[in-house]
Amino acid sequence: MAYVMNDNRASGGILDEHDAVTCCHCQAIVPIRKYVKQGGWCYNCDATVCWPCYNRMQTEGCAPFMRQVEIALGGTPRKLWGSAKGVAL
Ligand SMILES: [Zn+2]
Ligand SMILES: [Zn+2]
Repeated sequence: MAYVMNDNRASGGILDEHDAVTCCHCQAIVPIRKYVKQGGWCYNCDATVCWPCYNRMQTEGCAPFMRQVEIALGGTPRKLWGSAKGVAL
């Protein structure tokens, strides 16, 4: 979890509507209000993913940020990650 605003829960406040989650695949920051409408979960990474990455998972499987960096650098994609489908919220 990342926070774009102060987190008030520790001091007894309510969940800040500006809370945000970080996509574990592309590192995008997704505001929680957007995430609950369009967001996903990758069981392979055991972490949150943004909507575009969730949709990409349906065809390409899990593609974590570091793996995409590897591919961008010309490395050979590893088969290690399998084909986690994740789940829509
Ligand atoms: Zn993403
Ligand atoms: Zn993943």
